[in-house]
This record gives sequence, C-alpha cells and structure tokens, in this order.
Amino acid sequence: MAQKRFKTEVNQLLNLIIHSLYSHKEIFMRELVSNASDALDKLKYLTLTDEGFKSLHFDPRIDITFNENGKKTLTIRDNGIGMSQEDLDKQLGTIARSGTKKFLDQMKGDAKKDANLIGQFGVGFYSCFMVADHVEVITRKAGEDQAWKWSSDGKNAYTVEAAEREEQGTTIILEVNEEGDEYVNRWQIEQLVKKYSNHIAFPIFLEFDQESYEGEDNKEKKVEHKIEQINTAAALWKRSKSELTDDDYHEFYKSITTDFEDPQFYIHTRAEGTIEYTTLFFIPKKAPFDLYQADYKPGVKLYVKRVFITDDEKELLPPYLRFVRGVIDSEDLPLNVSREILQQNRVMASIKSASVKKLLGEFQKLSESNPEKYTEFIKEFNRPLKEGLYSDYANRDTLLELIRFKSTEVEGYTSLAAYKERMSEDQKAIYYIAGGSEQTLKNSPLMKGYTNKGFEVLIMDDEIDDIVIPTIGRYKDVELKAINKSGAAEDIKTDEDKEKEKAAKPVLDKIKEALGERVKDVVASSRLEDAPACVVVDENDPTVQMQQMLKAMGQTELPDFTPILEVNPDHAIVQKIADLSDADMISDVSNILLDQALLAEGVMIKDPTDFVRRLTEVLSKIL
Ligand code: ADP
Repeated sequence: MAQKRFKTEVNQLLNLIIHSLYSHKEIFMRELVSNASDALDKLKYLTLTDEGFKSLHFDPRIDITFNENGKKTLTIRDNGIGMSQEDLDKQLGTIARSGTKKFLDQMKGDAKKDANLIGQFGVGFYSCFMVADHVEVITRKAGEDQAWKWSSDGKNAYTVEAAEREEQGTTIILEVNEEGDEYVNRWQIEQLVKKYSNHIAFPIFLEFDQESYEGEDNKEKKVEHKIEQINTAAALWKRSKSELTDDDYHEFYKSITTDFEDPQFYIHTRAEGTIEYTTLFFIPKKAPFDLYQADYKPGVKLYVKRVFITDDEKELLPPYLRFVRGVIDSEDLPLNVSREILQQNRVMASIKSASVKKLLGEFQKLSESNPEKYTEFIKEFNRPLKEGLYSDYANRDTLLELIRFKSTEVEGYTSLAAYKERMSEDQKAIYYIAGGSEQTLKNSPLMKGYTNKGFEVLIMDDEIDDIVIPTIGRYKDVELKAINKSGAAEDIKTDEDKEKEKAAKPVLDKIKEALGERVKDVVASSRLEDAPACVVVDENDPTVQMQQMLKAMGQTELPDFTPILEVNPDHAIVQKIADLSDADMISDVSNILLDQALLAEGVMIKDPTDFVRRLTEVLSKIL
C-alpha cells in the first residue's frame, strides 16, 4: 500500500481551512452531504439516459451513522456514482477545480476575510479535517466491481488500497477529534442537516440508538435501534410560494451555494403555457469572489422535471448575470440534453430570455420600491449590469434604467432618469467624465466649465465605463457627452468665448508649431478656470487613460492617438507666450504645458527626462 503525497495546493488549502474556517467548522457536514447528493444526482441521471445503467436498481439515499465499533466516528454513506481508483487520486489528492490557485493567491492571511472568501469558494471535502484526525473513504464506482479505500490524516499524504463494498457509492468515515466531538450525537446531526441540507432532493436517514426505561420504577433500560429520515427531501422550487417562508428560501439558498449569509432577495417564478418551467433565482448580498475571473463557476443549476442535469453551464443566463444563483427546472427539455443541444435549443432560449426579462424587471421594481436596498445591490452588481449594456442589446433600455453613476450633484449614486429630471433647460446633453480615479476626475480642470453653469457631470470612475458608455450614445433623446473629449466644448461656448478664441489664434498657432507631432490640435478653451491648459481627445478617440489601460492589457498594436491641447487664453502663462520671441523658450514652455496637463490627468508622460530638462531650463532662465 503506497503512500502518496497531496499536491501542494491541497496542503495549502488544508492549512487555510483549518486556520480560517475555525468558527465555521460545522460546514463540513454541508460539504459532505452535498457531495453525496451530487453523486446521487449523477447516478440517477445515468440510469435515465445511459443504456448501460438503465437496468440498475437504485433507490437513492444518504445514511448517517455515528459512534460505531466503539470509536468516536461519524459516517456519511451514499449509494451514488462512487469513485474509481483514478477518481480518488484525481478528486481527493489534488484540487481538481480550476481557479483554486488564484483563489489561494487571493487569500492574504486576514482570517476573518478569509473565512468569508473561503466560505464563498466552497472548500468541499477537505473541510472534514477540521473535525477529524483521520478520514477513510470507501467507495465503489457504479459499473465497476472493485471497491477502494482512501485514507489520510489530512497532513501530507494519503493511501489508496483495494477494499470491499457491497453496492456502488461512497462511505466517508470520520474519526472525530476534539473539535468535532460536539457533533457526534443525534441532536446535533439532525440540527446540522436541517440547517444546511434540508432541501437536498434525496432522503437523508440518521441511525441512532434510542434508550428508554420501562418496568417497575422505570429501571429497565431498553435500547432500540432506529433509522429516521431527517430532511424534507423535496424540490423546494416545485412547492407553491404560499407554502414557503423567507426562512425556507434562505435555507435553500445556503444549501445550494456556499454563502454563509442570507441572499439579498429571491425571485420564484412558475411559467405555464406553451413552455412550462420553474425558476428560483437568488441575488447574493455580496458579489461572488470569482465574478471577474474568466473561469468563474456558474451559479444556476439546470433540472429537467426535477432531475438534476448540470451546474456547469455558463449559458443558462447571459454572462453578465453570472452573479445570479438558483435553479431552472424545465418540463419540456429532454433528459439527455447535451451542452451543444442546450445552446441552440428553442425551449432553452425562450426560458433564458424570459428569465432575463424577469430578473431585470425585478431589479427595476426593487429600485423603485426600496432604493436603499437597491443601492446595496448596485454597490455589488453595477458593473456586470454595465457589461450587459454592450452584450445584451435587446434589454439595453431596461439596463440603462438600472445602472447608476456618481455625480457632481448628488451624494451616492444617480440614475440617468434622475439626471435628466435635473437638467436645466439650456442644457443640451448629459455630461460625464470617464477614465481615471474618482479624485482625478473630480479635480479635472475641465469640470468647472460645466458645474459653474449649473450643469451636472457624471463621474465615471469604473474602468468599464470608458469602454461601455461611448457605445450608448444617448439616453432617451439626450446625447451623452464626455467632457474630456473635444465635442462637448462647443456646448458651453458663449459669443464672448468665440471672440476670445479668434483673438487667441496667433498664440495657439505658436504653441501648435512648437509641439508639432505631439498634438492633434491646439484650441482655445472656454471651460478652464485656473488651469492654463488641459488635454482632451478627439471625439472618436479613446481617452488617454483608456489608451494607457489598453496598452497595459497587452494591446500593443494600438496606434498612438495624439491628444488635443486646450489652452486657457485668459491665463497669464498663455498671455506671456504670446509675447515670447525666443524659439527655445516657446518650445520649452509649450512642452511643459502639455506634459503638466497630461500629468494632471493621471497619465504617465512618455519622456520624463525631457520634461525635467525643459523645466530646469525655464526655471534657470527666469530665476
Ligand atoms: P467539489 O464537490 O466542489 O467538486 P470536493 O472537494 O467536495 O469539491 O470534492 C471533490 C470531488 O470528489 C468531487 O467533485 C467528486 O468528484 C468527488 N467526490 C467527493 N465526494 C464524493 C462522493 N460522496 N461520491 C462521489 N464522488 C465524490
């Protein structure tokens, strides 16, 4: 019997679980029962779809026993799909799930935060080492004759050897340590199962000895061996709403996710008619940790007539709704629906589009009926909804109502609708500034030109804004304009400004000549108050910050978009340039003007040495 070492991530994860999940150690029960339930789902599915398994007699169940053979043990047994020798190695010797490495890297050693993250992540099987010093897994894969025993103390190594098991399935035997002591009794087990696994679709039985006293003075002790079912074992989503309480829904949510918290809200829908299906969706309070990872785990499970089909299909809902958890149960899909069929299936397509409409509609209702709760929702999920703006054209109008922005006018968030309400009559567009941190955007020298006129400016500090918002164009009949692009300048120009512009022509030409290729144009600005100059980009070019971001993301092909320099004709520096005749001095000052405008936007200047050299030159001439 050879010993095998765990893969390094397993060791890392085991350490982490033991240290950060300490106060949640009871979740080992949820994890083991949920694995057993998955195994039963998989076998049930095979018996319905695979000729080789159709004759298998199979009465799916989970059994829990404790303190057998005079030892402190807890045993969880299922008659599900089981594991082969190879499965054992793959599933229990390594961490099969992709993304684990990234997850482990995210953990920085803040135990409280870790507990939340790790809870969300779902630690699975290994959590049993919080409560056991030694774990045995005896398992036989459906369709195979040989059973196997895996055992480990959860430290560094495990062994696998041949074993006996009458039926297919898996038995997990925990030799409970001091930490697990409190769970080894009938009441605790019942409570844990009810708390976390009440809605598992298969019956969970508990075996125990019941003692009673009879006879004269109740002195005769009688011990009866009992087996009782301890969960409801019903598909909760098939029950009618009126029968169910918030607690039922919350419990169910926790049983299908790894969240410790109640969901933010849930949406339970039954559709009858040409296509029959039930959906139960949950919105978590906090964004799942893998929301922005390409290999995120989808949150919606597909059932067909209560038979579990898959929890690994990312297309059940559009990707931007990947934070939604829950169940879709269809009456009309075939059981052996493959991934390929699923993706082009008409029934699935209409369930999907109706579900999206339903979800977005409910979000909108919430925004009207409970703005505070909606703000909590937005804090977590504004960004995925913005993704929807460019990926889900059909629902764009609704999504435009749902997204929120920071603004110069209001604390917290505003909707576009509320912005539109506040617009003054002479205001031509919805103004925004995007690209950069909230602070840099708020301090943009361009801002005052608008706010002084009483025009509200939306502060779009989310990286995605810069990509998504320009693609929208307008909200209802109002154009959206970025103030750090050239187009919005015209809107606030007065006749006086136009006069000034004309007068400034010679100095603008002077600066433009000095800057040469570095700028697309040099124009007079009527929107700068204190600053001598600022950079904007041509209406159709990406903002400078965006260009920087795209480059950082590896888009090296990107052409260089040269900015437009807007200069303030009222500013002393600009007026002095008009009087300068020393060509070197004009060149130095113009370049400094451009570089400092770029710096103010939070942009790295390409040639800092040149900037410093010119600055030194100018300073030494004037001092
Ligand atoms: P997860 O369940 O999230 O994949 P786990 O660590 O809980 O992660 O389990 C790892 C794998 O081990 C499972 O995906 C499954 O393949 C296998 N496994 C665990 N428990 C059982 C069981 N009772 N029956 C069959 N396979 C199991």
